[in-house]
Amino acid sequence: MDNKLAIYNTLSKKKETFEPLNPPHVGMYVCGPTVYGDPHLGHARPAITFDLVFRYLQHLDFKVRYVRNITDVGHLENDADEGEDKIAKKARLEELEPMEVVQYYTNSYHKAMRALNVLDPSIEPNASGHILEQMSMIKKILEAGFAYESAGSVYFDVAKYNENHPYGILSGRKVEELMATTRELEGQDEKKNSFDFALWKKAAPEHIMRWSSEWSDGFPGWHMECSAMGTRYLGDQFDIHGGGMDLLFPHHESEIAQSVAANGKMPVRYWMHNNMITLNGQKMGKSLGNAISLEEFFTGVHPKLEQAYSPMTIRFFIMQAHYRSTLDFSNEALQAAEKGFQRLMAAIEVLDKLEANGNAAESVDTGKLKKKCYEAINDDFNSPILIAHLFDGVKTINSVNDGKLKIDHKNLSSLKELYLSFVTDILGLKPEAESGGDDALTAQLIETLLNLRREAKLNKDFATADKIRDQLIAMGVTLKDTKEGTEWSL
Ligand code: ZN
Repeated sequence: MDNKLAIYNTLSKKKETFEPLNPPHVGMYVCGPTVYGDPHLGHARPAITFDLVFRYLQHLDFKVRYVRNITDVGHLENDADEGEDKIAKKARLEELEPMEVVQYYTNSYHKAMRALNVLDPSIEPNASGHILEQMSMIKKILEAGFAYESAGSVYFDVAKYNENHPYGILSGRKVEELMATTRELEGQDEKKNSFDFALWKKAAPEHIMRWSSEWSDGFPGWHMECSAMGTRYLGDQFDIHGGGMDLLFPHHESEIAQSVAANGKMPVRYWMHNNMITLNGQKMGKSLGNAISLEEFFTGVHPKLEQAYSPMTIRFFIMQAHYRSTLDFSNEALQAAEKGFQRLMAAIEVLDKLEANGNAAESVDTGKLKKKCYEAINDDFNSPILIAHLFDGVKTINSVNDGKLKIDHKNLSSLKELYLSFVTDILGLKPEAESGGDDALTAQLIETLLNLRREAKLNKDFATADKIRDQLIAMGVTLKDTKEGTEWSL
């Protein structure tokens, strides 16, 4: 390879040559999902972005320890340490044990990730399984004088920290500005400053997820888990920390402050952030009501979707944009991606069967294409440019196949290796499974039956409703009636 991998570092705000702290080992931490709802597009983008990073670093022969956590406690409804725990709220509404909610949505997250051909991380720790690590880190921060106890809770003292360490180093925010813009919320009088954040929260009597500590019966603040688990598995300092841009502040900013306060070191060498997804030009989010789950994309069962979009179409579409650009989802754009993906896969099938048809002197030279592909991916994982080069290669493949272009053995085997490396191993694209269409059809049939059952119930025809339910169960469909409708799985 001619040039080296450069990564855009959100901390320095420039591209830097990648030099791991302890080669050939690379430590990478990515903030995973808070498991309280069906995985949607917003989950797919960071997972696929950092899957590309993980895959390419392994392609470069680095030994990567990739930690992607599961948030199952402490993520409150708003970022100002107030509101109900997201998991606990779901558990209360559904009358479930919080860990049932966690298990259910962790399973559906894994199922969606497998469909998208996202590799499993090396370690997938749960926040609730690392309460002791979080407590001991809180203790270190208290001992170092960067936190204070107040009414059973422990808060990070941002102003004190900011005296010697710049708080806002990652997000570019200034404490003085935060002072002016942070809203004073009710119940915040425990804090010295409104922008101080909770390391430990005393649990209200009705709060179900709680652990006893020397401060109170309570639970860790959301930012604590990533600092504690990152340190636990990757050390005080590690190479790459990733996540969505929406996590930059306050989550990642707070992670830096916590780690510097506890361990006296900047925890991360390269901070990477993927940009957000919009849907027909609008920001996506559950609260906005335009979130479409991945399962709904795969089956096409959603009023806003004109058809089913396969997991590989979604993956290809996400890779067609650079991870630092916003990406707008629409039916038109997805249909174009579907065509592009199929064209690429068809060319690979042609390439597989291609045989050399010329000698070295008359052969096309594939070396240039290889060089261009590496230049693209080494330029901060520029997957859209990489894909454009791969499509240029498709023209070559088709011309050789048509007999319009000659290729010798050496160039042909190098071309085959190039597509295997870049398309299969690095971009993680694979031919659509034959059963993909069947899955979508099955889903549509089940949804149709559930609609009939809903109608029967509305018409007080309970005999028919029960008959449909019993027959679906007999066919191996698991049904769960919720306030929003019936959820099902096979
Ligand atoms: Zn995190």
